[in-house]
Amino acid sequence: MSDTLTENSTSISLSPEVTNSYEVVIGLEVHAQLLTQSKAFSRAASDFGPAPNTNTDPVVLGHPGTLPTVNRGLVEMIVKMGLATNCSIRRFSTFSRKNYFYPDLPKGYQISQYEDPICHDGWIDIELADGSTKRIGITRIHMEEDSGKSIHDLTPTDSLVDLNRAGASLIEIVSEPDIRSSEEAYLYLTQIKSIVTWLDICSGNMEDGALRCDANVSVRKRGAEKFGTKTEVKNMNSFRGVEKAIEYEILRQIELIESGGSVVQETMLWDANLRQTRAMRSKEMAHDYRYFPEPDLPPVIVSETDIEEITSRLPELAPARRRRFTEEFGIPLYDAGVLTDSREVAEYFEEAIAHLPTKSEDRFKGISNLMMSEVMRELSERKIGIDRFTIDPKRIAELVEMFASDTISSRNVKDIFAEMLTSPKSPKEISEEKGFVQVSDESFIEETVDAVLAENSDAVEKYRDGKTSLIGFFVGETMKRTRGKANPKIVNELLRKKLDGGA
Ligand code: ADP
Ligand code: MG
Repeated sequence: MSDTLTENSTSISLSPEVTNSYEVVIGLEVHAQLLTQSKAFSRAASDFGPAPNTNTDPVVLGHPGTLPTVNRGLVEMIVKMGLATNCSIRRFSTFSRKNYFYPDLPKGYQISQYEDPICHDGWIDIELADGSTKRIGITRIHMEEDSGKSIHDLTPTDSLVDLNRAGASLIEIVSEPDIRSSEEAYLYLTQIKSIVTWLDICSGNMEDGALRCDANVSVRKRGAEKFGTKTEVKNMNSFRGVEKAIEYEILRQIELIESGGSVVQETMLWDANLRQTRAMRSKEMAHDYRYFPEPDLPPVIVSETDIEEITSRLPELAPARRRRFTEEFGIPLYDAGVLTDSREVAEYFEEAIAHLPTKSEDRFKGISNLMMSEVMRELSERKIGIDRFTIDPKRIAELVEMFASDTISSRNVKDIFAEMLTSPKSPKEISEEKGFVQVSDESFIEETVDAVLAENSDAVEKYRDGKTSLIGFFVGETMKRTRGKANPKIVNELLRKKLDGGA
């Protein structure tokens, strides 16, 4: 082990000519912890927060004579995921036992699916930096149960086992070896996160292990027909961590081959502190697990009606919604990307639009601007999601409407927004209290403009003789008389009409 560590310096340097002569091949295996209330095959609560070993039951603990039952929620969620990733759904699929010994696996086997996973042969599109899209095949998505957790760092002499997570619902999403770079792997993974969170089947959180990724990585000389030998990299706990681990592993493999060695099929562990991968164990083969059919569970049968019913309840996902936002509301693609980052944000935006009394593109863009600046800033400062934001979409729409109809200035928008954060009052009430409301009543402004012009006939003459810069003076005088409340745009228009029109 220590040999591997010293061999793998964190800074592998290879010339671009060398690295470019290789093609990278990556396939990802992603585990997603599902948000089912109870566990995959028992009634025990699927909540890992309480005191260790409290959310277990005889089924989870593998007591003799207990029988598992399939959680309907698990089946429904995986079918949703399969449909959202363009998979075919098996009408009939079975469970298998994957046998291995581990202290946090009381039964000595994991219930999984092997030969006939419920979802297979799908794909998702990822969007590359240059704007083009690339299709990544999904080999299979299957159901399984999680293991418990071994805790090695709580006492100096013992390892502890917490079985709260044992038996929790998991799905495993296996990609085709279609990914060709660490960036593509990162994009694929963020896309998977987007889908599971939009479907509301998984928190998508990598940091706490709700989403876990194993990366299968190999390299081959460009033009070679056969794939190179792959290694499987584990233990990354962030999206960027996956990207970095793959980058490192690619260089390690190329260096190894360049120096006359060959890649061994093995499992590598990513060490985020040392920023390197190191060999953990030689890769198990399927036969090591002695998969065999799970005799205690009936097959899962999904009917045509089930599929139709679930399809009808699928939400519009991020890429489709992003496209629609640009087409329906005329907002830039960039805005649409930010506003579809999460389903909650996208729904907030649409709700605000629904509250606008006047539907026009400047107002849609106004809501988008306000959300991307003031709202997002507030959310990130307070580290909260939009679901906990104190201003509802209706008041945001009212605020944007007031600005778009020239009732208040952009400066006022900021002040009213700040006030709304801590007050339930409407933007109209706040602006009245603060004396913000701009006067756009033309006849009132016209009276004032007429008075200003009548009292300054000298200046009017000079203006008409060519000193047009005096417009600023007239605007200033008018604004002074209205104590700053006249809408400056209307004041300007009226003044120019009267001065230039010779009235
Ligand atoms: P194993 O039998 O070792 O588990 P699988 O064929 O089941 O291998 O594939 C596991 C994952 O590895 C899949 O995501 C697949 O796309 C990927 N994969 C398969 N072969 C390669 C390869 N040569 N290089 C990179 N990834 C690969
Ligand atoms: Mg496999």
